Amino acid sequence: MLVLGLTTTNTHLINLHPGQFNSKGNRDLRIIPRNQFLALRIILKSDQNHNQVTTMTSQSTTSTPPSQIQIQKHILILGAGISALQTALTLLTSPSTKHHKVTLVAQHIPGDQSPAYTSPWAGGHWRSHATSAEGDERLRSWDARTYEAWCELLESGDGEVEGESMGERERRMGIGFRPSVNFWGRECEETVEGGRGLWWREGVVRGFEVLPLSQFPVRKGPGQEGSELVFGVGYKTICFNPSTYLLYLFNRIQSLGATVIKSPLDNKNGLKGIITAAKLLLKEKELQDLDILINCAGLSARHFLPAEEAHNLFPIRGQTILVKGDAAKAHTITNLRDVSTDEVLYIIPRPGTGTTILGGYKQAGNFDEGVDEELSRRILERARDWGVAEELRGVEGGFEVLIGFRPGRKGGPRVEVEEWVEAVRLVHCYGHAGAGYQNSVGCAEEVRGLIEGLE
Ligand SMILES: Cc1cc2nc3c(=O)[nH]c(=O)nc-3n(C[C@H](O)[C@H](O)[C@H](O)COP(=O)(O)OP(=O)(O)OC[C@H]3O[C@@H](n4cnc5c(N)ncnc54)[C@H](O)[C@@H]3O)c2cc1C
Repeated sequence: MLVLGLTTTNTHLINLHPGQFNSKGNRDLRIIPRNQFLALRIILKSDQNHNQVTTMTSQSTTSTPPSQIQIQKHILILGAGISALQTALTLLTSPSTKHHKVTLVAQHIPGDQSPAYTSPWAGGHWRSHATSAEGDERLRSWDARTYEAWCELLESGDGEVEGESMGERERRMGIGFRPSVNFWGRECEETVEGGRGLWWREGVVRGFEVLPLSQFPVRKGPGQEGSELVFGVGYKTICFNPSTYLLYLFNRIQSLGATVIKSPLDNKNGLKGIITAAKLLLKEKELQDLDILINCAGLSARHFLPAEEAHNLFPIRGQTILVKGDAAKAHTITNLRDVSTDEVLYIIPRPGTGTTILGGYKQAGNFDEGVDEELSRRILERARDWGVAEELRGVEGGFEVLIGFRPGRKGGPRVEVEEWVEAVRLVHCYGHAGAGYQNSVGCAEEVRGLIEGLE
């Protein structure tokens, strides 16, 4: 045993761990308020179990379980997309992890536009793609938790602005409640038995109702009259404007103490190369070395992961059209008859911006960055023919075509701990395909659980 601190007069006890010093000798310095800790001496065991701290009082000796000891670690998050930003926010606001130091390193940050940065191109709204299948349990829980957390955020705020109205909050954060209707052109697993397959109908979303036929939109195209739709539901969804929401999260994590370094990490030498590059960068910036790296690199993770894993990653191309005007509600029509299954009709109002997104497209394996003019024409005509956003007609101004690549992964998102790499613990969080926002809070909380479980 090694006695490191002894004080009865200072206001704080300073607890140093023998195995945790960096080159500057202060890596794991923790300040313990005296009013929480009436110990006369802190004795650290310099044994293998670095988490074990024995507290000796004048009366007795008590052993604090390792789970209650908070040793600061330096967590480097690779990325600044929705996965990275929400993970950072969750770590920085959770009692079990907020004592850690968090640094984000990313080539692209909010405000940047690149095909290698998916997050700014999202639609975006909460519309779960998770199914009722057993294998989707984790996805269901992430989506459900995110819906709940977003409701809390919108209704109670984040504590940053006093007396803020819902409308002000919506504009500040770029996220808001909107009514939503979903329709199906053909029966599928989701529509069976009057929507039994929609796992989120009970206990997850608010205001769920099965819509009567009289409320179904009717297509007006030449020679194609008739509803053609087989099922429809309404519920309250949450829509967001990606650029505002990303920027909101970005500013928030910095105000909570996160450091951000805008820089690419050399990805040509595999995972080890990423870690070596991260270490070098931190050294260059005179920051402490990293203990944990969370890989939130999205689709770009394929550039440094081992080949067998890199082959699991693929782009799912999306093309949407941004138009002026606020659609009154979100609309989605899937499984349209005579339409390829990779095309969906959706209308997503973008809170606080006076614009709306029309979509969409989900083409797996396509990395074409060019605009597909024919597809744009089909998206616009479909919205017109189904009459789903009539309020947008006549709004002055042109439109903008947006193209993004969802980070698809065979087998679904990878969120797990990998063994040590170069003496750094590695946690993966990528491959979120078309659900990176709507699962963001639930997934980040799972990452937090993984971090808590690391020694
Ligand atoms: C058209 C479209 C519509 C969508 N609609 C929705 C929707 O309505 N709801 C929803 O939930 N989701 C939606 N999505 C999906 C969602 O956008 C993605 O799941 C999400 O953005 C993925 O985020 P990410 O943080 O994992 O990756 P990204 O946003 O791609 O971020 C990756 C980060 O890693 C960094 N990076 C990678 N490699 C390196 C390196 N070597 N060095 C430094 N930095 C590096 C990048 O610079 C970037 O900051 C949509 C996507 C598209 C394209």
